[in-house]
Amino acid sequence: MALLLLRRRLPTISPRPSRPTPPQAPRRWHSVCSSPAVSPARTRFAPSPTGLVHLGSLRTALYNYLLAKSTGGQFLLRIEDTDSKRTVPGAEKAIYDTLRWAGLHWDEGPEVNGPFGPYRQSERSQLHQHHTNLLLEKSHAYRCFCSAERLTALGAARKRLGFPTEYDRTCFNLSREESDARAANEPFVVRLITPDKYPSYVDEVYGKISGGSNERRHAHGAYEDPVLLKSDGSPTYHLANVVDDHHMKITHVVRATEWMASTPKHVHLYNCFGWEPPKFVHVGLLQDEKKHKLSKRTGDVFVGEYKDKGYLPEALVNFVALMGWSHAERSDVMSLQKLVEIFDIKGLTEGNTVVEFGKLTFLQKEHMRALIKEGGPREQEIVAQIEKGVRSLYGDT
Ligand code: GLU
Repeated sequence: MALLLLRRRLPTISPRPSRPTPPQAPRRWHSVCSSPAVSPARTRFAPSPTGLVHLGSLRTALYNYLLAKSTGGQFLLRIEDTDSKRTVPGAEKAIYDTLRWAGLHWDEGPEVNGPFGPYRQSERSQLHQHHTNLLLEKSHAYRCFCSAERLTALGAARKRLGFPTEYDRTCFNLSREESDARAANEPFVVRLITPDKYPSYVDEVYGKISGGSNERRHAHGAYEDPVLLKSDGSPTYHLANVVDDHHMKITHVVRATEWMASTPKHVHLYNCFGWEPPKFVHVGLLQDEKKHKLSKRTGDVFVGEYKDKGYLPEALVNFVALMGWSHAERSDVMSLQKLVEIFDIKGLTEGNTVVEFGKLTFLQKEHMRALIKEGGPREQEIVAQIEKGVRSLYGDT
């Protein structure tokens, strides 16, 4: 009966036929875990609670989870809520619910706690402030008292002249005494001193990445000098991310390539503190068939939408696992447990991934079939759900 009902109900969202597609060949294999004994990885999923959970975020969480679990390590959840203006009420709970629904249970993080908490960045500001002071003491950073109006006027004037628009380092030249005295009465931000060249680093997927040169800008008296601490005493992403990854003993940072531009800055910060950076593992963006960033235009992009349409967590997890990672198994159909067994970051592929939604329909059928074959309470639950749906559509007759 279940299969009969399913056949009627399930072909809801696939814009394409549900033929299985062969596993994608890796574009390039990487030699990250080249040593046979892989040490346990500590990874983290570090979302900002700014809205619904996107498929891409689920994938980031999953790869972090798989790397930790496949090496006998720990998977952490850290809420990056330093930008209170962007925080959306309820978003944090949606993150918890989504991860739990998908079976990605975190070993440390909010609600489960752990030895390196708190795991919500807004509760760690003392640590962030302390580390800002260390940077000030070591002259890797300086206080800036310039008003927003001055900075806007400066940028506009520079633009008119055709110059780079960054900061002119006015406050860099204040003496320590003057800076301390003004800090007692005036609002300020703390800026990181940008080096002429950012350090390069080795990305576990993309290989050697050059940090990039700031010399041209500097020659024009324009300095990026990113803000580390805002005038309300809260940290920016760069500072909090680095300090927390270090203190939470994160070994691998797995995140989307959109963060790659920030990584040289982060490596520079690690160097300023005298800390060893974690390994960076960047994964490409998800795209639609027209190679645009995956968006509402071409289909559902939020995990909750799939959940509400009756997709199984097993199917969705399997689907996102294949978005930018390939394996040598004969079949693409895999449970979370199987994924943990075979996951290897060598299989992560360079470049963006075009999402083929037809594959999800195929995986849904396969996982549903397996679940029904297995029977038990999950099957009963699904049958009851379908029955409810059918009755609400067609009544009791
Ligand atoms: N808070 C960032 C985000 O929302 C985390 C980036 C990172 O993993 O470093 O995705």
